[in-house]
Amino acid sequence: MKNKKFNILFLALFLMIGAVLSGCSNGGSASEDSGGKKELTFMFRGQPQEQAAYKAVVKKFEEANPDVKVNIVVTAGDQYDTKLQAAIAGRKIPDVFFYNPGQLKAYVNSNVLRDITEYVEGSEGVNLDDIWETGVAKYQYDGKETGTGAIYGLPKDLGPFALGYNKTMFEKAGIALPDKDKPMTWDEFINVSKQLTQDTNGDGKMDQYGTGFNVNWALQPFVWSNGADFVDETYTKVTVDDPKFVEALQYFADMQNKYKVTPSIGEAQSLDTYQRWLRGQLAFFPVGPWDMGTFEKELKFEYDLMPWPAGSTGESAAWIGSLGIGVSKTSKNPEAAAELAMYLSADQEGQQALIDQRVQIPNSVKVAEEWAADTSIVPENKQEFLDIINDYGRSHSTDFTYNGEWLDYFFANVQPVLDGKKTAAEYTKEVQPKMQELLDKAVKQEEQSKK
Ligand code: CA
Repeated sequence: MKNKKFNILFLALFLMIGAVLSGCSNGGSASEDSGGKKELTFMFRGQPQEQAAYKAVVKKFEEANPDVKVNIVVTAGDQYDTKLQAAIAGRKIPDVFFYNPGQLKAYVNSNVLRDITEYVEGSEGVNLDDIWETGVAKYQYDGKETGTGAIYGLPKDLGPFALGYNKTMFEKAGIALPDKDKPMTWDEFINVSKQLTQDTNGDGKMDQYGTGFNVNWALQPFVWSNGADFVDETYTKVTVDDPKFVEALQYFADMQNKYKVTPSIGEAQSLDTYQRWLRGQLAFFPVGPWDMGTFEKELKFEYDLMPWPAGSTGESAAWIGSLGIGVSKTSKNPEAAAELAMYLSADQEGQQALIDQRVQIPNSVKVAEEWAADTSIVPENKQEFLDIINDYGRSHSTDFTYNGEWLDYFFANVQPVLDGKKTAAEYTKEVQPKMQELLDKAVKQEEQSKK
């Protein structure tokens, strides 16, 4: 699996180098002028509600720019990376596309992304000072380090993963609501989860649980708040065998195996934890800004946001994800493409339409603060999203390494720990060398790409 991905990437790089050397790079797929209009291809991903929201905003962009026609290519989240890699390998890079900040360096070094600094700085609609600093910096690269230098995209959004809770369930059980300013300790979190894991109709089967976390998205807050990380601060040494990391992973697995506050593997298979949350059967569940629209429509209970429980550091930690909107280096209409990217990320009109659809937090700091204070928008404690960005959130370490293969290996093989068949200590000791080998490869690849 990982080898296949690796090979595709290599093939892509090989084809790109070939195209550049022979000077026959053929540009974006549909960028020929037709009917006097500049055509752009915009490729993106999202849940159904997000897809609809983005399509509507693109339509608004076309109305405001009658000389531009945008062809949309949209996929579900899990198919997107494969499809984008194929487009890159075939040199049919969309003019405008979403990309993961972890790919920034590789895409710049292999001539996939265009430097759009001049368009952004010359734009009247974009005020960089008003966009979250962390959001813009994720897409800057000076050829050596990310976070500074030329702009190779703008944030689609910042995606702070907050922790949500089912307020109605707490109230029914007569349990005090979580404090929005003071995180629970890990012990407190287990205790409350135990109280809320109940067989409500007395048939001997549990009807509701404390929680049910997906390891890929929810392990990080536990690791970080325990003072550990997947990699050291130079991004060259894999640190999953650090005792604080081991403790966090074991705690995570124990929620199921020892404390039994999450559905068992069998139960999770019959109904996944996202569905259980939607049906009101989980007390706690991660909530991203993109969930707000769906939750507002579908939840038959009240929910709100709270800080993630704190490990040995005593502090919450949370993951801020992001996707960038980039412009292809081979686009034949780079200016129009940059305009579209800016419209989606930073333009007031475009932003407002997306915010109204409840699929993201505002990219403008000022607008975000007003939005967070507006109690008519569910959930009430939207400030938690902003606190994550301003205060206790962080990027994933793969945003800074040349690829994410080394981390994929960790998540691809972690299931036996979650099932209680291996201890966290055994597992991390076993995978550290393999992960290190993959990270060493990524480091080497980065060095070579600069030569
Ligand atoms: Ca029952």
